Parts: sequence; C-alpha cells; structure tokens
Amino acid sequence: MTNFTFPTEVIQLPSQGKFYPEGHPLRENGGKLDVKYMTAKEEDILTSTNLIANGTVVDKLMESLVVHEGVNYKDLTTGDANAVLMASRVLAYGKDYPVTVTCGQCKETTDTVIDLSQLETPDELVDVDDNGHYSFKTPGGLTVVVKTLTRGEEMKVEKDNKAIEAKVGRGFTNEVTSRLRSIIVSINGVTDRQELSGMIDNLVIRDSKFIREEFTKVNPSVDMTIELDCGNCGHGIKGGIPIGVDFLWPDAQL
Ligand SMILES: [Zn+2]
Repeated sequence: MTNFTFPTEVIQLPSQGKFYPEGHPLRENGGKLDVKYMTAKEEDILTSTNLIANGTVVDKLMESLVVHEGVNYKDLTTGDANAVLMASRVLAYGKDYPVTVTCGQCKETTDTVIDLSQLETPDELVDVDDNGHYSFKTPGGLTVVVKTLTRGEEMKVEKDNKAIEAKVGRGFTNEVTSRLRSIIVSINGVTDRQELSGMIDNLVIRDSKFIREEFTKVNPSVDMTIELDCGNCGHGIKGGIPIGVDFLWPDAQL
C-alpha cells in the first residue's frame, strides 16, 4: 500500500504551550502545533448532514485537522482550539473573511471584511506550576488554584447544561458553577471534589466573578471581537466574529 502524505503547517498557539502539564509535547515545544490542510476528507465531514444537524461538525473537523503526534484536539485549551479554527480558515481560503453584521440601533446590515491574520493574542502570560496550574488570591481572601479548560471539558459543560435545560426548562442554567467546577483545582488547599463543590456553590459573587476573570489568563485566545460603525446610522457595533459552517466551507449551499 502507498502512504500518501498530506500537506501540513505549523501554527503558533496563544497558550505558547504554557498551560499543559510538564512532559506534554506542546509544553516542550512552546505551543507549536502541526495541523493539516483541509482535503476531500474534510469536505466529507463538512457535507455530513447529521453532523451539521447535531452541531458537532466544527469539532469533528478540527479533530481531523489536528495531526500533531501525541496531541488530541479535545485536549487543547479552548483558546488554542479557537486559534486552530482561525488558522484552518486562513490556510484553506486566505486571510480575508467577509461578514455581514446587523446594527442593534437601526437594524440595517453592514458588510465588512475581517483580516483573520491580524487577530491579536496576549503577549504576556502568567507564571504557572509544573502542572500548568495558576494560583492567586481572591478579594474575599481565598487562595484559589485554577487550570485551563480543554475543548473536551468545555463540550462536557455544554452537554450537561443542555441536559439540565431539557429537564428543568429553558432559561435555567448552572453554567457558572459547572464551569467553575471544571477549572478550580483547589480552594484554600482543599482538593476533595465533593468538598470543593460545596465551596463553589457558596462562593460570593465578587469572588466567583474574580475567579472567572483570572481564569482567562490561563486560557489565552485569539481576540475574536469585532468593532465597526454601522454604514447606515453610524452606531458603534461590537460583537463576536460570526462563525458557522460556511466559515470553513464558504461554498456550502445549506
Ligand atoms: Zn445602524
């Protein structure tokens, strides 16, 4: 049998590999990840209607594109996973991404082109221990250790949340606490999951908010917010870059 090799590219991840445990290939190489260019195989994933219907098409695609030895896409931090998504689009179709945004003031739409190669990532990263964990003190005086969140863990939070919504009804969510449970390693030295869980439920809002803000330091990402003025009324529009299946497959006729 002939082994065809596929074209790959090395991308620099926003984490610089810092938040992975010691010995992890990305920690060792400073966060340089091998990804492959999209091929006919990825086009198959993109056209798979059942993947589109259950909303997993982008994750399936990313899994297929991360070909780095010893690295699974689901084990990437969510910030690094976003960077892979952006890089894959640039590799496949170039840096320009045309979008249409709707003004919140006059409801008119404005067309613009985003240069995906210019999205910024933080330069300075916090210091972490050998496990990639980050320790800090909250305004309420708690010593908290957090870890980054992987795409796999994020998917679990999303799934649990959907299950709760289905059971308790729309609008109800425990997303804040389930996210905190996924990122907090210890509070005041307590690592027992059950005890921690109780402590997390009882965090005062000021501390809970502070912990979530500090967490962003161990999950650096490409800045995916866009700001522009409405072409009709001049109102300032600010929001996230819209991303759908057509982000990775502009020719899709869905
Ligand atoms: Zn407007």
